[in-house]
Amino acid sequence: MTDSCIFCKLINKEIPAKIIFEDENLLAFHDISPQAPTHFLVIPKKHIVDIDKTNAEDKALLGEILYRATEIARSLGLNQEGFRIVNNMGLLGGQTVFHLHFHILGGRQMKWPPG
Ligand code: 5GP
Ligand code: ZN
Repeated sequence: MTDSCIFCKLINKEIPAKIIFEDENLLAFHDISPQAPTHFLVIPKKHIVDIDKTNAEDKALLGEILYRATEIARSLGLNQEGFRIVNNMGLLGGQTVFHLHFHILGGRQMKWPPG
């Protein structure tokens, strides 16, 4: 927990979110500024700044995030036509919130290369 972290505040229910899934390690919720018809985020409850700050201890947690992201995508029917999982890291990666999160986007044609 970091006092100034917006995602820690979401985890602690200090600010509201449209929560899709929660367990002891993870929270999944809809992005406040969706970039696709479906756009949700999966985050660890543990405050980790970005994927570069993970270590061997976090291997299982990273697996849980991807597993859960896929389960939720499937439950929302995104697997029918496809979806994208994105992690932005650091300045050039376009990261704006410094609590590790994975984006799951679906419901429209994605482009490659990404912008
Ligand atoms: P990043 O640019 O760091 O990869 O992604 C941060 C994401 O968090 C953005 O898509 C942004 O819209 C989303 N976001 C930022 N603040 C909030 C918030 O208070 N609530 C929710 N639900 N999403 C947020
Ligand atoms: Zn945090």
